[in-house]
Amino acid sequence: MKLARRILEMEESITLAAGARAQALKAEGRDILSLTLGEPDFITPKNIQQAAQAAISDGRASFYTPAGGLPELKQAVIHYFEHFYGYSVKSSQIVVGTGAKFMLYTFFMTVLNEGDEVIIPTPYWVSYADQVKLASGVPVFAQTSEDNQFKITVPQLEALKTDKTKVLLLNSPSNPTGMIYSSDELEAIGNWAVNNDILILADDIYGHLVYNGNHFTPISAISEKIRAQTVVINGVSKTYAMTGWRVGFAVGSEEIVSSMAKIVSQTTSNLTAASQYAAIEALTGPQDSVETMRQAFEERLNTIYPLLKQVPGFEVIKPQGAFYLFPNVKKAMILKGYDDVTAFTDAILEEADVALVTGAGFGAPENIRFSYAANLSTLEEAVRRLKIFMEK
Ligand code: PMP
Ligand code: GLU
Repeated sequence: MKLARRILEMEESITLAAGARAQALKAEGRDILSLTLGEPDFITPKNIQQAAQAAISDGRASFYTPAGGLPELKQAVIHYFEHFYGYSVKSSQIVVGTGAKFMLYTFFMTVLNEGDEVIIPTPYWVSYADQVKLASGVPVFAQTSEDNQFKITVPQLEALKTDKTKVLLLNSPSNPTGMIYSSDELEAIGNWAVNNDILILADDIYGHLVYNGNHFTPISAISEKIRAQTVVINGVSKTYAMTGWRVGFAVGSEEIVSSMAKIVSQTTSNLTAASQYAAIEALTGPQDSVETMRQAFEERLNTIYPLLKQVPGFEVIKPQGAFYLFPNVKKAMILKGYDDVTAFTDAILEEADVALVTGAGFGAPENIRFSYAANLSTLEEAVRRLKIFMEK
């Protein structure tokens, strides 16, 4: 056997795989509507592009940078935290790397010993569980459902706690459910983590994408005590339409963050320099494009949500943020004679030419994920096709 056990036990990212499959079918000439990947369909704002172009032209982007990020980028992150999070951080509390995804992985590699447990509210974003396992940790799934708005509670956490519990992961607004925790909920959960000396990993990547008067509260802003226990992961991918640039950052205690920088220095060396210059402009330049894109997502949500509710057998609660709808399709599967959501998702692709992501990889065997980061006409046509598929 040539392959290591860790890779045999690992799954490919199903979101990326679903996106690639839709792309391949399109290349074969099929008229596929892909609502798979969660990435803004807008191109990166001009001012951000120009900042990177200038850094490339004048040679600033030609060289390695400090492993944990350019000092100017750390200053930009400090500025961002002052404005968006409402508190001050020091540059020694910041590490920048190749996407929020890699920062999450770097965090797990930094804090987990063999067998340490990470509580993951479920449904969860597909990469968390495999990243924890790669870092020799054990994912512990805290199951939630539509009945409690897909949110975990303190009694639930208390029941899952063991002497191996090291980290509680929180992703609000959530991929895939779109739910947002309120300040009170965060305070209760945060105090529980503090009292039990459990680290909080706050994946705030969708913090700017909130709709219809809903509000994002970062758990790290609730209290000094909770903040001291928290590592925040964020980035520019979703907020600034920059998924391809691969910029992510972590902010937390100097001890953890400087150790994360060690991993960056021994693996990727540093985030691509041109991307770092782009990120400086994103975080400190004009912010009007953020609101323009947010409004576009909000309009799409408000258009597509009532239409999706009319598809026979699709039961969906209205998301508050991110850009996903996560209907429960249990009844739809029964109507069409399926008992497996992945087979059902495949049938929708084959028969309706709509590519979605099975809930199975999110720990949700009765749900299916739609990304509404696509233009309105694509979304409307996709739901029309789904309706025809269900009524056939
Ligand atoms: N966290 C969540 C919840 C996500 O959906 C994504 C999407 N890619 C990421 C982190 C990673 O973002 P990126 O690596 O593009 O910065
Ligand atoms: N996070 C996005 C998604 O869930 C992008 C793909 C990925 O990184 O998994 O679709």
